[in-house]
Amino acid sequence: MTTTRPKALFGRTMGRSLGLAIVFLCALFVTARLSLASMAPPLKAHPVPAILIQAVQRLSPGSGDYFDQIDRKSVGYLVWSEFPVKVAIDASGDERWQRQVKAAIEEWRRYFPLAIVSTPETADIRIEAKRLGLKPDPKTGALPRFRSGQAHYEVFVEPVTQLLKHRMTVELAPGQADGVLLSVARHEIGHAIGLWGHSPSPEDSMYFSQVKNPPLISSRDLQTLARVYEQPTRLGWRVETAVK
Ligand SMILES: [Zn+2]
Repeated sequence: MTTTRPKALFGRTMGRSLGLAIVFLCALFVTARLSLASMAPPLKAHPVPAILIQAVQRLSPGSGDYFDQIDRKSVGYLVWSEFPVKVAIDASGDERWQRQVKAAIEEWRRYFPLAIVSTPETADIRIEAKRLGLKPDPKTGALPRFRSGQAHYEVFVEPVTQLLKHRMTVELAPGQADGVLLSVARHEIGHAIGLWGHSPSPEDSMYFSQVKNPPLISSRDLQTLARVYEQPTRLGWRVETAVK
């Protein structure tokens, strides 16, 4: 199947270089912009995936969340509405890189419906092995020694269904030690499935900086993700007028 690359829409560039980290800097940004104006679907919530509801029900109450740190974009929250969400892993990544990426996907699959596909052109999330350029810290001007991962997305109208959709790209630098790469992959996949922001706590996998003993997916990560999926979005709903 050939796919015509749909016109990218919405958003503004949001480079975010968070200062304190030496090794691990995570950038989140939008790759394209558009003004959809009156054609935009109204904000409406989708059903929360059952596996996520069940996961949260098993958690001890009162673990809290960091929902207030999650960005709501002009399209609403960056949630998926068709499950499982299809993930393609870069075939050019070496075997060790691929193994760590798959391990991170398996961790999230316990709580969220993900499926690995072999066709990047049909994937919702593409995970690419890519060396990342260094960007100076906006506050200090200092260059980090290394950037380990980043995530970005684009929004488009699916030509056949006229649904407003998004596509995520996660870039993970090759050559990182296994445990480090696993934690970076876990973190960036968290962004790609809807945690578009960072936790202020080093005990969550979505903490903005790498820590010595990287945390696993935490109760707070899951509580936050569940809250995100309860929110309204324009994504996954039909636009009323064709975009030219
Ligand atoms: Zn991040």
